[in-house]
Amino acid sequence: MLDICLLGTGGMMPLPYRWLTAMMARCDGSSLLIDCGEGTQIALKEKGWSPKPIDVICFTHYHADHISGLPGLLLTMGNAERTEPLTLIGPRGLERVVGALRTIAPELPYDLEFIELSENREQIKSGPYVIDAYRVNHNVVCYGYSISIPRTGRFDVDRARDAQIPQKFWSRLQKGEIIEDGERILTPDLVLGPARRGLKVTYCTDTRPVPVIAEYAREADLFICEGMYGEEGKEAKAREYRHMTFYEAARLAKEAQPKQMWLTHYSPSLTRPEEFMDKVREIFPQSKAARDGWTLELEFDEE
Ligand SMILES: [Zn+2]
Ligand SMILES: [Zn+2]
Repeated sequence: MLDICLLGTGGMMPLPYRWLTAMMARCDGSSLLIDCGEGTQIALKEKGWSPKPIDVICFTHYHADHISGLPGLLLTMGNAERTEPLTLIGPRGLERVVGALRTIAPELPYDLEFIELSENREQIKSGPYVIDAYRVNHNVVCYGYSISIPRTGRFDVDRARDAQIPQKFWSRLQKGEIIEDGERILTPDLVLGPARRGLKVTYCTDTRPVPVIAEYAREADLFICEGMYGEEGKEAKAREYRHMTFYEAARLAKEAQPKQMWLTHYSPSLTRPEEFMDKVREIFPQSKAARDGWTLELEFDEE
């Protein structure tokens, strides 16, 4: 199972009842956080989800509303006696930016590992997660992320027999082990049918609506997308500051056909995002104006 919480829905600055946009995923005891603006750890506390099992933090970019909450969160994870290393992923400059922020959080009881993104598309595996980072279009280097939980195929007895795999290895191979049997290297694909549909959540904020977003969000279980502006006449402003309107987000969703889309990263001036949703749903019916703390529990399809 994959648990998702959209911890906040604000852009630029936190407001009462609206924390800055960040998302947490939980799967098999390992948590993953995307972005950490001012107040993200309070949003986490309000939700009642522990920061201690966070194994990975992905940063979209280094504007303050996406990273300024990091030193406090790192200290809180230290106070919770975390000792396992924490992986940080983000655009080039990550180690320098985090190093500067750590001037005020120098001593931590765990190590930080840095993965700096430099290609337009990169895939990283961490615990149960397959993390796809893709470059988007903001006024600084910015990435969106797809978080997937892959699902292997079913065990296929006929395949295992045809490949003459000794029965004693079947269950280990089914669990994903690679086994050396004398001269032969046995791999899980020898006993498994085709991969089944896994789970996927795609996240992007702070970008113009570029086609790569729809590509990664294709048939996602959940697509969380920036909607900075909902009011009429904000298209020029969205273009100038490299953000998106609700309608631009909905057109990406229409292209990608996720099961649902949640809007987030609202401009502080936008107090009631629901007001614009009728028009948004004309473009993509499964659109929702998300609120802080929204949660979704995703499970593999029954088969
Ligand atoms: Zn932002
Ligand atoms: Zn930004």
